[in-house]
Amino acid sequence: MSEGPSRSPAPTVHERKLDRSRMPIHGFHAHIYYDTATRDVAARVPDALVRAMAREFGSTPADLIVAVGPSIGACCYEVGADVRDAFGAAFGDRDLTRWFFDEPQPTAANPSMPGVARTRRPNHWFFDGWQAARDQVEDTGVPAAQIHVAQLCTASHATLFCSYRRDGKAAGRMAAAIACRRRPLG
Ligand SMILES: [Zn+2]
Repeated sequence: MSEGPSRSPAPTVHERKLDRSRMPIHGFHAHIYYDTATRDVAARVPDALVRAMAREFGSTPADLIVAVGPSIGACCYEVGADVRDAFGAAFGDRDLTRWFFDEPQPTAANPSMPGVARTRRPNHWFFDGWQAARDQVEDTGVPAAQIHVAQLCTASHATLFCSYRRDGKAAGRMAAAIACRRRPLG
């Protein structure tokens, strides 16, 4: 990966509502930042972002570095059939078992938040948006080693992150930024 000057004059700063994946894509000529809701991932927005980088900046997927920031994980994120159906319609059934689970998927780093059911309710699944985003970006040709997923669940870590799923309308907001480090050209 080569780093170069950003076309943006300043770091891209974006603030939005929580639990969403924050997805900086950093290429040779530019960096962009997109705040991705689950429905955006189903609508192939990560794929569209990589294509837009190529179209607008001449980037190639092999040069991109992609980062998926903290967002709600499959340890906590129960979704309904509408979400699973949207992914099934967009990607077919092939990958649904990689992204949707009958039980929450806690880890040592991301325990399920209090109150999460041990098994899904009827017509509900636990959704791994991190894997869905990673798979989609990898399919565009970005090397796996250049896709970085924070794997930090916003709902699991009440002292670190805001989470709409955990806190509802009282939840705060989070901000994120990306910037290019200045390096000599040549
Ligand atoms: Zn969690």
